[in-house]
Amino acid sequence: MDFRLSEEQEAIRQMALDFARDEIAPHAIDWDQQKHFPVDTLRGAAALGMAGIYVRDDVGGTGLTRLDAAIIIEALATGCPAVASFMSIHNMCAGMIDRYGTDEQRQRLLPKLLTMDVLASYCLTEPGSGSDAAALKTKAVKEGDSYVLTGQKQFISGAGESGLYVIMARTGEDGPKGISTFIVEKDAPGLTFGANEKKMGWHVQPTRAVMLDGVRVPAENRLGGEGDGFKIAMGGLDGGRLNIAAASLGGAQSAFERALAYVQERRAFGKAIGEFQALQFRLADMATDLEIARTFLWRAASALDAGDPEATKLCAMAKRFVTDRCFAVANDALQLHGGYGYLADYGVEKIVRDLRVHQILEGTNEIMRLIVARSLIGRK
Ligand SMILES: Cc1cc2nc3c(=O)[nH]c(=O)nc-3n(C[C@H](O)[C@H](O)[C@H](O)COP(=O)(O)OP(=O)(O)OC[C@H]3O[C@@H](n4cnc5c(N)ncnc54)[C@H](O)[C@@H]3O)c2cc1C
Repeated sequence: MDFRLSEEQEAIRQMALDFARDEIAPHAIDWDQQKHFPVDTLRGAAALGMAGIYVRDDVGGTGLTRLDAAIIIEALATGCPAVASFMSIHNMCAGMIDRYGTDEQRQRLLPKLLTMDVLASYCLTEPGSGSDAAALKTKAVKEGDSYVLTGQKQFISGAGESGLYVIMARTGEDGPKGISTFIVEKDAPGLTFGANEKKMGWHVQPTRAVMLDGVRVPAENRLGGEGDGFKIAMGGLDGGRLNIAAASLGGAQSAFERALAYVQERRAFGKAIGEFQALQFRLADMATDLEIARTFLWRAASALDAGDPEATKLCAMAKRFVTDRCFAVANDALQLHGGYGYLADYGVEKIVRDLRVHQILEGTNEIMRLIVARSLIGRK
């Protein structure tokens, strides 16, 4: 264990950093203000292999590890955490199809996801069930060779723009064992979308409700067996949570670097504010927090790659710790900018707004504690 990236990983990281610097960062503030979803830029990232990072290579996937994915998403997020987070969601959906799909499904669905000609959305949350996801009510009723889906999904990232929806719906009993997963294509009759939600951050990607009114889905679009849906949904989230944490890390790293430069330029009381020891100590703590967050994130990602039985717990720990610490680092970076930090042009307030939701989605940080606590003292 030497805690160093391999040469290949360094090269992958540099490729994603260059892409973030050249293709994302120069536009991030504008896209945020215009609420522009940069699909062409996403496709540019896909052309470099970043849309199917851990999809196997027989269908054109990049065939890398969860650790590599965390490195890539962190790097992309230095340009814009919300763009990186959509890449994370898309990769999660592609990874679920790769892992749980039949060969026919993988060959049919993955190539278009890997180029991002078709974007993918993950649909678990409903108006009445978020944290308690296993209480979902969307129904899938078997009729001959198809299922008919009726219900509503809430807060779906990319909805309305994505061409493919990975939807968890109830085919059986109450609770997690009665849930199955379906792939629904955008043009399916009966599938409609709500208005783009007005929100605090993540402006570069749309968030909409997804309504299903008797949507007929051929049985060959069921992912995994009947009743396996909750397990599949949670399996996707282990890696998804690492990537959301990685997006927080990249955003916070960028905010930190801006603050580090700013304190050396800005003067008060006759000197650069970076000469005040109170601020130097703040920067030292921020840098330390970023290192701890990264080290632990890589540890959790390596555990997932190794199939460690503790991986789900470690992913939950990483998601909670990294997203909380990185939000605090970004917020400190804003503080170090004084009033200018509150202005959009400096880019730091946008990072703070974007990172806030990472403490809520893909399982709130309270639910992450629940997962960890259950692994310590059992489920009651
Ligand atoms: C911008 C955005 C994008 C999103 N994208 C997606 C997406 O693409 N796909 C998708 O499926 N979902 C998505 N979500 C939904 C997100 O995952 C949920 O909002 C989240 O899981 C919380 O669910 P909830 O909003 O229903 O809150 P609730 O579950 O109602 O929770 C409310 C509060 O109670 C706390 N709480 C609940 N239960 C417990 C407990 N047992 N112990 C302690 N505290 C508890 C929660 O932590 C929270 O603080 C998105 C949300 C947002 C805001």
